[in-house]
Amino acid sequence: MARLTTQKLQLWLVDQYLEEGSIIVNTTKIIKKINISIIRTSSINNIINSLYIKEILYKNNSHWKLQDVNLDYMHPCEYSTLIALPPEYNNLKVLKLFIDIYYNDFGGVYVQLGNMPFDIRKHLRNHFILGFVPFGGSFDDFIHLFVLDMNQLEKGVLMNIQGNDYWIIAGLGCVTADLPQGNDLVGVKCHSAIGGCRTCLVAKDNATNENLDIAMISRYHHITNVQFEGISIASTFAQRDEISKKYSLRNSPPILDQLQYECHLQSPQDTYHLIARITLKLLKLTISMLSLYGEQKFLKS
Ligand SMILES: [Zn+2]
Repeated sequence: MARLTTQKLQLWLVDQYLEEGSIIVNTTKIIKKINISIIRTSSINNIINSLYIKEILYKNNSHWKLQDVNLDYMHPCEYSTLIALPPEYNNLKVLKLFIDIYYNDFGGVYVQLGNMPFDIRKHLRNHFILGFVPFGGSFDDFIHLFVLDMNQLEKGVLMNIQGNDYWIIAGLGCVTADLPQGNDLVGVKCHSAIGGCRTCLVAKDNATNENLDIAMISRYHHITNVQFEGISIASTFAQRDEISKKYSLRNSPPILDQLQYECHLQSPQDTYHLIARITLKLLKLTISMLSLYGEQKFLKS
């Protein structure tokens, strides 16, 4: 994080991926530690004589831009609370786990340990099956007990592993699911022409535009939360439907929101499913263009 100072006390967060955004400072040059607050709400009344950030300085399509600091993913420490170890377990070694969920088209829900190196994690034996959501059944009912367990694991539990006691803390890592399940898990309505997806708000016609300002159009959990609140306090059903349509959200937050995670960032698009479908379409279109002779020759080869 680099910063630029003004006469006032405001600093700017500079996009970390820019060359200008990372400055390596020799530790001997550090004079003291200072606190800087990120101001996500419009009121800055509580900031007296301390440094604060309200905007992000970044580059889009080689132009410098400024945007509200709200249009940035929060650091996990801003939305997750780490509970201190009970004093009687203070001497225990703490182990931390990332629990990844994979939910496939057939209703299978698998758990993977994000801590495993990828070459080990990808083996079939390291996909631990949690169960199957019965056809026509509800994912929320199915996952409910898992969420309760994860709530406990976020706080930490005592486990005996090979004769030794450990304090285990686990959190939700990555949630992978095909469409439309992936959107359901995040509380976003299915893809529509204008509603965007579970990651961003880009309209379908614009999706391949390479100059898109991704930071500006991304979905952020802290913003989605506020939108869900707006939906929940709507006074009539019609009003509620209107607001949820406006944000392209479902009527209530998804069950996984009960866990500490940034739903939009931690539920990436499933590239395999996206590409596989398009490849099949391309193959079908190609074959339909061939003559009968060409088709037979193609299929033989
Ligand atoms: Zn998108």
